[in-house]
Amino acid sequence: MNQHLLRVEGLQKSYGPLQVLKGISLDLRKGETLSLIGPSGSGKSTCLRCINFLERPTGGSIFLEDERIGQLPDGRGGLRLMSDRELAPQRAEIGMVFQGFYLWPHLNVRDNVALGSIRAGGMARAEAYEMAEEMLDKVHLRHKADEYPERLSGGQQQRVAIARALAQRPKLILFDEPTSALDPELVGEVLGVIRELAEEGRSMVLVTHEIRFARDVADRVIFMDQGHIVEQGSAAEVIDTPRVDRTRSFLGQVG
Ligand code: ADP
Ligand code: MG
Repeated sequence: MNQHLLRVEGLQKSYGPLQVLKGISLDLRKGETLSLIGPSGSGKSTCLRCINFLERPTGGSIFLEDERIGQLPDGRGGLRLMSDRELAPQRAEIGMVFQGFYLWPHLNVRDNVALGSIRAGGMARAEAYEMAEEMLDKVHLRHKADEYPERLSGGQQQRVAIARALAQRPKLILFDEPTSALDPELVGEVLGVIRELAEEGRSMVLVTHEIRFARDVADRVIFMDQGHIVEQGSAAEVIDTPRVDRTRSFLGQVG
């Protein structure tokens, strides 16, 4: 029995001649939080976007609970890429939270959270609205359910985006620098919600520049540079006692 929730094997991504991911292998156990750190341009976002096939990898494999993401047997002993329609149920199992919140401006908070699950996840309406209330509660914004996004602070909007990702009941949540677009005084409330999710045993991959937060919350940390994994280990190992010079100098710059 394989206890890994997510397995990434030899992931590669190129844009034309530019090789962005040069063979990334990582895995995540159920309930674990993995933090991906590294300099700008090292391929962190591309890696997250390949995991749920928002970008199509040019090499390697991704498995969620032993189910191959994005590819199916082609009947001739090989694999073919899935269509968007075939991908939709797999994408619903992988929630994603971006730096920008991408809420629908013409919908109130409750609809923003519920409609994603109905449209993308195929959830029944009543269930989706029940989930929306529950998840808004989890991000401490139930009292804002009737508001429109423009009336909320950036931190509140990002918490709504997190509730929307949670409402689809994903097995895995990917966070791509969820606090980078926020004014400093709003970072804490979003990190607080992410911390609560980690503590309740959600399975998450978190790209962040908040190194102290990663040290605190992540079970494991991966340091990436130029499309490679340079170093990985427990959060304490990688952040407190990095073994590789490049990790050390990066941490020196950001920490
Ligand atoms: P990070 O998130 O670590 O800052 P990214 O994954 O965004 O890094 O980018 C890694 C590299 O890939 C960068 O050199 C970036 O310019 C390049 N890149 C990302 N997306 C594209 C794209 N759609 N087309 C061409 N190059 C891209
Ligand atoms: Mg990025």
